[in-house]
Amino acid sequence: MSGLQDKVVIVTGGARGIGAAVAARMARDGATVVVTDLLDEQGAKTASEIRGLFLRHDVTSEDGWKSVVEATVERYGRVDGLVNNAGIAAGTPLESETLEQFERVLKVNLTGVFLGLKAVIEAMRTAGGGSIVNIASISGLIGLPGVSGYGASKWGVRGLTKIAATELGRHRIRVNAVNPGVIYTPMTMERNAQLGEGNFPPAPLGRIGVPEEIGEAVSFLISDAASYMTGAEITVDGGWTSGQAMTTQHPDTTGGTAPDPGVQVNSL
Ligand code: NAP
Repeated sequence: MSGLQDKVVIVTGGARGIGAAVAARMARDGATVVVTDLLDEQGAKTASEIRGLFLRHDVTSEDGWKSVVEATVERYGRVDGLVNNAGIAAGTPLESETLEQFERVLKVNLTGVFLGLKAVIEAMRTAGGGSIVNIASISGLIGLPGVSGYGASKWGVRGLTKIAATELGRHRIRVNAVNPGVIYTPMTMERNAQLGEGNFPPAPLGRIGVPEEIGEAVSFLISDAASYMTGAEITVDGGWTSGQAMTTQHPDTTGGTAPDPGVQVNSL
């Protein structure tokens, strides 16, 4: 795919994982990418590999957002795209989740997206329009146990995406979401994710995804190829949330034979 020529796109949490793959995909499609993250060394490396700019940035800071947008406009003259990707995964069952844990996840995953949406509006209006992609999750499509803060944040991101789409369409700013399933990144490596066929039976495709598969969907939504899409979502989950995968085992209704998901799927 091509079609991001002359576009300047900011990717938060772009140092590694999904954000780095999104940044690389969009750079290959012609975009100039500004990578932001808390991870200085990795962020600078990722940005230099795609001839982009790295900016240290905490998405929970409103002043930080102001600086990122100002630095981007100063360096490249415009902002055409934003990928709200930065996020943290944390969670315990509701009874043991503390208020502090709950609020921390909401602050990064949901407030960070809210601040990002607000921060780019003026620059995108000046550029004549823009495209924003929020990375939500299948945790925002269904109720997964043990992940109240994370799940609530991702349901919130999906809702905010649709609200922003209704408000910003008149400025030619499109706002869409991508819902990844289990994707092989540092976030899920810590939770025993394994690559390869047959390693994730709950998904009809039988495996977890790789960050590049999210990059494809995001690059499409940022590009003009998605010019009539706003308030929409693309779910990239190997079919997991479509329903029960057919496997050689039967679903567990009596105990004992359910497919082993192979990874703690409740923190995605
Ligand atoms: P990752 O490998 O942990 O990468 C996330 C990046 O965001 C890290 O570099 C992290 O830096 C950064 N970050 C965290 N808090 C930040 C903050 N306050 N400001 C700026 N940057 C911050 O995770 P990932 O798997 O690529 O996930 C990327 C996005 O996809 C997240 O929104 C996640 O919820 C979503 N997602 C992932 C999966 C999956 O299976 N991997 C599934 C569904 C949705 P630090 O290391 O310093 O925290």
